[in-house]
Amino acid sequence: MPRRQTVDPLIRAQVIAAWGNQCWLGMPGCRITATEDDHIIPYAHGGKDTVTNLRRACKHCNAARQDRVLSGYGATLHAVIGPPRADFTGYLTGLVGRDSVVVSFDSLIRDIYPPAGPPDGVRLAAAMAWDGAYRALAKCGQPLDIWLVRTLPRSRRHPDMLGEWLALDYDIHVVETPADATFDLDLTPREYRAAQQWYAMRITQRMVDARALQRRQRLASLGLRASDGQTAGRPAW
Ligand SMILES: [Zn+2]
Repeated sequence: MPRRQTVDPLIRAQVIAAWGNQCWLGMPGCRITATEDDHIIPYAHGGKDTVTNLRRACKHCNAARQDRVLSGYGATLHAVIGPPRADFTGYLTGLVGRDSVVVSFDSLIRDIYPPAGPPDGVRLAAAMAWDGAYRALAKCGQPLDIWLVRTLPRSRRHPDMLGEWLALDYDIHVVETPADATFDLDLTPREYRAAQQWYAMRITQRMVDARALQRRQRLASLGLRASDGQTAGRPAW
C-alpha cells in the first residue's frame, strides 16, 4: 500500500542522530534494530515527516502497529482487564466521564443477548464487535477518552494485547479478584476455562505498573514523555 512518501534521507539521518536506530515501538516480537521510518502521529492523521514526528521502527512493529496511536497522541486509551465476572461496572464508576467511550465485552454480549448463558454465536458476534470497535478507536486521531474492557488481554488477532497496550502507553487497570472468589462463583465451563487462563497469566496491577513505568522511561528517552513518567509533554490540542 504505497501511501507514505519516502522520508528525506537528511531528515532520517537527523532522527537517527537524535533518537537512535533502535525500534521505538518495542511491540511483542520486536526485532529491535530499526529498518523503517515510523510516524508518531500517523501519516494518515496528518503526521508530518519531521524529526519531531519520526522515530525509527523495525519492520515487524511498523506493520503490527498499523495506524494505532500512542495514547495521548490522538485518543487517550485506557484498558480494564480482570477475570470472568469481575465487577467491571463497579470499577468503572467514577473513572468514566460522560463523554468517555466504553467498549465492554460483557456489555456487548448483554446488548445483543440479554438472557444469561449466551450461545456461542452471540459470543463470537460480541468478540467481533469488540475487535472492530477496538481497531477503529485505537486509530482515533481525536482527543477522545476511550475505555476498553475485557477479560483476557489477548485475541486471535492480538495474541499479546497487553504487550501491545504497554508499547502504545495505554493506561492499564487490573481488576484484581482473588482466585478463590472467582472459582467459588457458579461459572459456566467457558468462564471456568477463561478464569484458569486468567490466573495462569498472573497479571497484577503492580506488574503492569512496573512494565508501564519502564516503557515510559523509554518513551521519555525518545522525547515523547516527560521524564517523571507523567503525561506532560504530549502535544496540546
Ligand atoms: Zn520493533
